[in-house]
Amino acid sequence: MKVKCLFCVLMLSVLLLISGCTFSNAGVEDGDDVLYIVTTIFPPYDFIREITDGAENVRVQQLLRPGQESHTFDPTPADMIAVEQCDLFICTGGESDAWVDVILSAVAGGEDKCVRMIELVEAVEESAADGTDDHHGHDHTHGDGAHDRDVIEYDEHVWTDPDNAVRITRALCESLCEIAPEEAARFRANTDAYVNKLVALDAVFQGIAQRARYRTLVFGDRFPMRYLCDAMGLGYRAAFPGCAAESEPSAATMIALIEKIKAEGTPAVLKIEMSSASICDAISDETGVPVLTIHSCHNRTAAEAASGKTYLDLMYENARVLEIALDCSAQ
Ligand SMILES: [Zn+2]
Repeated sequence: MKVKCLFCVLMLSVLLLISGCTFSNAGVEDGDDVLYIVTTIFPPYDFIREITDGAENVRVQQLLRPGQESHTFDPTPADMIAVEQCDLFICTGGESDAWVDVILSAVAGGEDKCVRMIELVEAVEESAADGTDDHHGHDHTHGDGAHDRDVIEYDEHVWTDPDNAVRITRALCESLCEIAPEEAARFRANTDAYVNKLVALDAVFQGIAQRARYRTLVFGDRFPMRYLCDAMGLGYRAAFPGCAAESEPSAATMIALIEKIKAEGTPAVLKIEMSSASICDAISDETGVPVLTIHSCHNRTAAEAASGKTYLDLMYENARVLEIALDCSAQ
């Protein structure tokens, strides 16, 4: 991993030498008045598009291509140049983009233009969910800087809570207003309008939590929905924590998930988009409950990108799934 990262930095240095570019501290190429924003994953890309809607000379780029897996993302030389050239760079700050630190350290002014989403909200430690116990997240801890992040593995999926999406959008708006003060009025008006939609989304999830007959979600998959579960006051069981790389749960984990569903009459077993349904299918065979898909919003598929799906679209689809998975039908 380290060798690969060193190679990345070497490649970046060579490419910048070849291209002969000179950059100001802000990372803007001389004479270039385009506001250039680069994000690693989908949610902040969507938030930035909302904030900058209608502004001219804005370029927003998401490094993950449609359908690409975020946890095995490997930046190309073109991606590294994008990070070097942009005015604002937004990443999660979590373990899946550890490569970011290596590139930023090689880029002049890199740290100054980097925004890490986990530092904009109340980040929590990655849950040790292994399917055998109910988890309820109340042990919030604060992510306050690089030092802590070296010691504690924070759950990076902060955008899954609409209230966090509000905080992230407002913070990104302020960053953009600093870089392009002439557009500040437009950015703030767009942000206010978008925040209203996020608040309405949050109210929908809170309404579901109130009507739910069940209080625990069972994931036969990885578990990137910790922040949404916390926001809704739901417990959870999952085959793996966070977006762990494992793909084979232990027999004890499988049995625990199956027993949980049988004992409580849980209406569904959940999988994440773009992951194999094999664990959920096995649980479904044993229990007879349907497999439903929750969208973690890390990224969009090619079809979702082509049809212009937004964070709000995907989260409203999640709301409809949760109405079934928590059984909101009776009231
Ligand atoms: Zn993840």
